Amino acid sequence: MLDTSGRADILSFTTVSHPAPVPADVRSQAIASPRFGTVFTDHMVIIDYDADRGGWHRAQLTPRAPLQLDPATSVLHYAQEIFEGLKAYRHPDGSIALFRPAANAARFNDSARRMAMPELPEALFLDALRRLVEIDREWVQGGDGASLYLRPFMFASEAFLGVRPARQFKFVVIASPAGAYFKSGQAAVKIWVSRDYVRAAPGGTGAAKTGGNYAASLVPQAEGIAEGCDQVVFLDAAQRRWIEELGGMNLFFVFADGSVVTPPLTGTILAGITRDSLLTLLREEGLSVREEPYSINQWRADAMSGHLTETLACGTAAVVSSVGTVLDTEGAFTIGSGSTGQVAHTMREVLTGIQTGRRPDPYGWVMKL
Ligand SMILES: *Cc1c(COP(=O)(O)O)cnc(C)c1O
Repeated sequence: MLDTSGRADILSFTTVSHPAPVPADVRSQAIASPRFGTVFTDHMVIIDYDADRGGWHRAQLTPRAPLQLDPATSVLHYAQEIFEGLKAYRHPDGSIALFRPAANAARFNDSARRMAMPELPEALFLDALRRLVEIDREWVQGGDGASLYLRPFMFASEAFLGVRPARQFKFVVIASPAGAYFKSGQAAVKIWVSRDYVRAAPGGTGAAKTGGNYAASLVPQAEGIAEGCDQVVFLDAAQRRWIEELGGMNLFFVFADGSVVTPPLTGTILAGITRDSLLTLLREEGLSVREEPYSINQWRADAMSGHLTETLACGTAAVVSSVGTVLDTEGAFTIGSGSTGQVAHTMREVLTGIQTGRRPDPYGWVMKL
């Protein structure tokens, strides 16, 4: 049992080490050129929740294995599910660090509240991450763009077909070695403007990190891919006028006069931790950053006039990328030279520098294991 002060040590973990972990040579090969999210480490964390058994109770660190689910398991029918994404980095001194994991813990609970799910004490969330990275530490490689991607998630595990919040949940953490996210690596990305579909509506679940938002983005994403693009940009649901975000990344618009705009968090946009970090880092660079609405028509006009010099897409998986070209049924346009811009390059360097321990961390963002 766990007391309400969030003391995780009250919930002790049962640890079972993998009897046959991936051999070192196979692991090295898998880490060398992983396709995002296809290779996984040897272990996982599972913690059970039961409203009728005092809440969070059984915590296990075990060999990674398939989950066995009753066909009536609630999440399979009504999608009561949330997740997080963050990375573990190998620092030059050999230590391992997480980037702002407490922010992920807080956002996880924001998502939980929106989806009528139980909150997980922050200390328990962090303890779970720490234990998994510790036992699979050989999977955390140093070097250019390399990290171990951590995927904490929670789902309704109660076998019950009625429509109401479940009374049983599972919190799980798995880990996957990561390299550069987009196939094209650091090159500028090509974006498709979704005119027929929206991602999130006012009052909906756009601010929660929940699988359903991604499910809704797959058709427009496929449309974008068919048009030769890497990602989709969504407009606001009410007016189809204001730029919101990509399917899984936030946007920043950089202007020739040294000002920067990013869409405000009005409830339809996911509050990215990379976004929040860039707000600080861009201001540190002397740029004047405003959180305010920016329209698709203004984006095109500013790109064509040259007032807009760069557009940055940011998120944990791909860090910071430049948007080079925007494809839209109402006319395509190119931003700057169509390649990676100076601000994007600098922000990527500074942010990954802090994350990987190559730069000092004056903000207290890095948590050493
Ligand atoms: C996770 C996510 C982001 C990026 O968030 P980070 O914390 O920076 O990784 C942006 N948009 C959506 C829809 C997301 O799910």
